[in-house]
Amino acid sequence: MMTTLLFFAVITSLGASNLADEKIKVMLVTGQSNKYHNWEGASAAIRQHLDAAGIFSVDTVVAPPLGENMESFAPKWSDYQVVVLDYDGAEWSQSTKASFVDYVKGGGGLVTVHAANNSFAYWPEFLDMTGIGGWGGAGLYDPILNPDDPSRERSRDESWGPRVYWEDGGIVHDDSPGGAYHPPRHDFLVTIRDHNHPITRGLPETWLQANDEVYSGLRGPAKGINILATGFADPTLRNASPHHEPLLFTIDYGQGRVLQNTLGHVGADQDANAPAVQNVGFIVILQRGVEWAATGKVTQSLPDDFPTAYHTSVR
Ligand code: ZN
Repeated sequence: MMTTLLFFAVITSLGASNLADEKIKVMLVTGQSNKYHNWEGASAAIRQHLDAAGIFSVDTVVAPPLGENMESFAPKWSDYQVVVLDYDGAEWSQSTKASFVDYVKGGGGLVTVHAANNSFAYWPEFLDMTGIGGWGGAGLYDPILNPDDPSRERSRDESWGPRVYWEDGGIVHDDSPGGAYHPPRHDFLVTIRDHNHPITRGLPETWLQANDEVYSGLRGPAKGINILATGFADPTLRNASPHHEPLLFTIDYGQGRVLQNTLGHVGADQDANAPAVQNVGFIVILQRGVEWAATGKVTQSLPDDFPTAYHTSVR
């Protein structure tokens, strides 16, 4: 009920304010998701990991609830070095979208987590800056996002652009028809494809992600994508992709540093303890990814309990 009075809520980091000045300023945007996800759980886990890193000063910005007027949602992007998007829902106002494009194009950092790439299926600049995305059909939201949207339940198909995957040591753009999909959540192998990037430097070649979804067949303009890591689903599962799917990748967009992390499923029946967001592999690429998007560098070392190719490591 507090949301009836607050246009949007900003929850500021607690802690020593004199130290906060030296920390990287992060805006975590959340507040809406499709009906298969729990944004409160996901954003709580993201906030927990960013606070634990000790180098970030995080403000959590909670958008108005799905179905409410978005006109009042107008964060001041330029006060932050990086925006972490844990948001999948209604389009923002024209002015908020325009200021966001200016922010990223002008050199701002952007990290999208999991279903954030389902958002804004009809916002061309967002599609360009995120490269590829998944769903976004109106009927995936409760209440229905846009009753006039003809796509309803469907995922993005070839009309959005190619899908991309990793094959024979490089990225493949595939124009063949079909929608985005994913198998049921399970433990699967992540493979690092670029060991020279600050985010992935020093990580083991392969490691297990815990109980997560391998987003597959994501589609979009797919320009300027640099794949850092891929995932390969258990082929015995329904909707398992035959390809090594991109799950951590940067996108060249203006002067911005943009990173997609498609890991991190927190289901509607789960909370911040969901294994996908508490596996140390997810935690590390989140913490490192946000630092890189903000500064272009990574100063964080690897924890001792990083998962291996044989064992997940859920805290
Ligand atoms: Zn999911």
